[in-house]
Amino acid sequence: MTNFYGKGVCGGIALGKVYVADRERRHIRRIGIKDVKEQLGRFETAKEKAREQLSHIYEKALIEVGETNAEIFSIHMMMLEDEDYNESVINIIETQKVNAEYAVDVTGENFARMFANMDDAYMRARQADVRDVSQRIVSCMSEGEEKEGEMDDNVIVCAHDLSPSETVVLDKSKVLGFVTSHGSSNSHTAILARNMALPAVIGVGDKFLESIDDGDFIIVDGYDGRIIVNPDGETIEAYKKKRQKDLHKKELLKNLKGKENVTLDGRKINIYANIGSAENIGDVLYNDAGGIGLFRSEFLYLEREDFPSEQEQFEVYKTVLESMAGKKVVIRTLDIGADKQAEYFCLEKEENPALGLRAIRICLTRPEIFKTQLRALYRASVYGNLAIMFPMIVNVWEIEKIFSLCEEVKKELCEGGIRYSENVEIGIMIETPASAIISDILAPRLDFFSIGTNDLTQYTLACDRQNPSLEQFCDTHHTALLRLIKYACDSAHKNGAWVGICGELASDTSLTEEFIKMGIDELSVSPSQVLSVREKVRSIRIE
Ligand code: PEP
Ligand code: MG
Repeated sequence: MTNFYGKGVCGGIALGKVYVADRERRHIRRIGIKDVKEQLGRFETAKEKAREQLSHIYEKALIEVGETNAEIFSIHMMMLEDEDYNESVINIIETQKVNAEYAVDVTGENFARMFANMDDAYMRARQADVRDVSQRIVSCMSEGEEKEGEMDDNVIVCAHDLSPSETVVLDKSKVLGFVTSHGSSNSHTAILARNMALPAVIGVGDKFLESIDDGDFIIVDGYDGRIIVNPDGETIEAYKKKRQKDLHKKELLKNLKGKENVTLDGRKINIYANIGSAENIGDVLYNDAGGIGLFRSEFLYLEREDFPSEQEQFEVYKTVLESMAGKKVVIRTLDIGADKQAEYFCLEKEENPALGLRAIRICLTRPEIFKTQLRALYRASVYGNLAIMFPMIVNVWEIEKIFSLCEEVKKELCEGGIRYSENVEIGIMIETPASAIISDILAPRLDFFSIGTNDLTQYTLACDRQNPSLEQFCDTHHTALLRLIKYACDSAHKNGAWVGICGELASDTSLTEEFIKMGIDELSVSPSQVLSVREKVRSIRIE
């Protein structure tokens, strides 16, 4: 029995088997071989299987997403036949006398690096494809031989850290909790865990991953940030009891469903939920959130080969709006870049991505991408109570430009005889110090502000939100931060706009009273935290 400690970022107790979801750990082994012919044969058979798979995927994609989008799979098929690629794999097997998986993996990486250094943006984007094709060949070789990578039911996902796109592909129905050796409180693993209401501990250190393996039994205590590897029977029993108590408390919270978010002296506040996909709607409704305060639409763009079409986006927004049946739904436009990367955007490599071409900056420099999303949003607006929110605003001119693009889109829809609502509220995220400081100038142009405390904290305190070693410097109660929030709140109210908080600080119940005193109108939190924030609000007396 070994103990590890990190930071609990989502309360709860989980007991279950380890699933290591770590690419660094899941590397392909280099194995010396005697029978070169056998390895060449395995390579050929795997390619054949990969060809069959790709041709099925291509046919399916043709029907589902049309010829242009399906084209990528025929490019993958062509890569399978590429002479240089094949020669490299064969050469590595023959000269180094190594297993075929290793030869394919090395070749894939070499080609990806070559593509990454090309000037042409289209060719640079092919690095993801060549990696994808290589992984497909490798997995065709391992089929039936090893089950590595497949996830059992009821597992605790342990990783170095999970990227936003890795979280997208995770089979969430099988997960009981999360542990990461790195990561920070505002990292996407932490946000995902809170969205799923699963116990999670981050920053447990590298030693942890070195000491566990798939199938090990562990306990995760998301309250104390404690992990126990291979616990003894007594400890298991104690934690099972703790888990029971915890579930009972969560059960009691459910009594708050249907109750108002009102303080003892009658101040009301809206409690909305943050989501990353339409799949989270069930949790939003189950936890009785009054609306959606942040739909991170960029998750629609992750873990795919190409941009989501206008129609595809429209369907998702429409589903969310219809499911919320007239309650407010704040959809944030694409916030890609920094920690949320999609290779097909072909973004230049940046020294400081968090300060780089991200979010609204991409949208304003590539209006064709932005306008597609705006069209989808306005088309969906007739199906519910939509508010559109723009991230990473720093300048007034950005808002002016956004308005002119919105007008263009509405005009085009009108000319095409397509309906849209005239009552769509427009707001921005206050997540840069600049936007907070000029909030008095911005507010008259807008219906609302939503304060993104995750980024506002990182930019105000100069603390990279991805860097776990900065936790002690990253004081989320810092006076500078609270002053900026208060100033933005006052600016909004002086100009008839409403103001919410949608960063993780919104669920910090030690600040709820202060936020209510400031006059914050809305707190948007993970669906699983709605009821505990409601409980807090109902216990407060301001006067
Ligand atoms: C924020 O920055 O507070 C926020 C809500 O946006 P994200 O966490 O997606 O950057
Ligand atoms: Mg942000």
